[in-house]
Amino acid sequence: MSACPDCGSTRVELRHIGRRSGAVLGASAGTASGIAGALHGGRTGAAVGVSAGPVGLTAGTLTGAVFGGLVGLAAGSVTGSHLGSQLDETVFDSHECRHCGRTFSDPATSASAGGEE
Ligand SMILES: [Zn+2]
Repeated sequence: MSACPDCGSTRVELRHIGRRSGAVLGASAGTASGIAGALHGGRTGAAVGVSAGPVGLTAGTLTGAVFGGLVGLAAGSVTGSHLGSQLDETVFDSHECRHCGRTFSDPATSASAGGEE
């Protein structure tokens, strides 16, 4: 348990700045790349599946785009969240004292940040 370096209070909470913003950024980037990839695949499918008719073509393209977007969102969110957690530990002050409001990074966490994982 970490304590505030200012007042010594143990009423400290994690802030997760990087993890929250990382998840949002990652989800956005993942969705965009997922949809872009799905649309690219849709064009390839369109060339192959012209004989299936316009309905099958449209349905296949939309399904691919939605699926690609969801996969990209999930993957990007996880990746961004993980990267954000790393930033929380190394860059941002990850802790906030509930007693005096001071923000600080946990010395124990910082010391082990370069270690295994
Ligand atoms: Zn304090």
